[in-house]
Amino acid sequence: MIIAIASGKGGTGKTTVATSLAISLAAELTPPPLFLDCDVEAPNAHLFLKPLFEHSREVGILLPQVDEARCTLCGRCAEICQYHAIAVLGQKTLVFPQLCHGCGSCAALCPEKAITEIPNHIGILERGQTPDGIPFARGVLNVGEPMAVPVISQLKTWAIPQPGQHVIADCPPGTSCPAVASIQGSDFLLLVTEPTPFGLHDLRLAVQVARELGVPAGVVINRDGSGNAGVDEFCRAEGLPVLMRIPFDRAIAEGIARGKTLIDIQPEYARQLLDLFEQIKQLAGAQPLRVSSRTIDASL
Ligand code: SF4
Ligand code: SF4
Repeated sequence: MIIAIASGKGGTGKTTVATSLAISLAAELTPPPLFLDCDVEAPNAHLFLKPLFEHSREVGILLPQVDEARCTLCGRCAEICQYHAIAVLGQKTLVFPQLCHGCGSCAALCPEKAITEIPNHIGILERGQTPDGIPFARGVLNVGEPMAVPVISQLKTWAIPQPGQHVIADCPPGTSCPAVASIQGSDFLLLVTEPTPFGLHDLRLAVQVARELGVPAGVVINRDGSGNAGVDEFCRAEGLPVLMRIPFDRAIAEGIARGKTLIDIQPEYARQLLDLFEQIKQLAGAQPLRVSSRTIDASL
């Protein structure tokens, strides 16, 4: 089973939940879960799980390069590029590398064979093991590089679980392409949120992603007891199960700031996280989430 752990916004405690869940499962399951840090723009799960990396691999995409001598400025490449990453401007065909997804369509369809593809290094994949015996893999996007999705996609095909091994994927925050690429193919989406108006707003958007992808979802409310009841009311109205609550607690906040997991801070969380996993297992086979049109309209 692949459990994607995500949040509509950053700073909700998604990585805290993901790393703590991995540790609690590793103590109970053989093989231990495979942990994927898909938050390639700001990976930080290693700060909590402290893996030793043993293998690495570069990630690249192929960028088009136009041979001006062959190019007839026909504009076919610009027509087919979904990302507006290539354009005919005056007497030149220009490529915008920051927009290019390296899909290869322009090179394949250029009638003059004027486009060749050159490798462009955008990040790295790393794989190893934590002191708790958890296989750990992550992607790291180069600083300033905009294309997170190829790094995430290659991470998911490079770090393959063993038969019967569960996967915990710590996804990027938000609801843009990197988050969608990380969640896609998961059996369950665990949304970590906080009971604030911002948390509710972004939870609504994340729930729409779950609906679009057809992935069953549930919620963990972090810093419970702060803020207001809006998240609870939303979950109730949408039939979205609240699977765990983590109270607003200064000791937890201080422990996390020092790189500790929930279990390091309060060992009784190990049992709660195993209960969370049991609930996820039951829900993973459930019907995908349905969100009423009223709620979708309200969130837009
Ligand atoms: S499709 Fe080929 S020939 Fe046409 S503008 Fe693009 S690079 Fe030039
Ligand atoms: S490789 Fe794909 S994304 Fe990049 S310029 Fe060509 S068509 Fe556009």
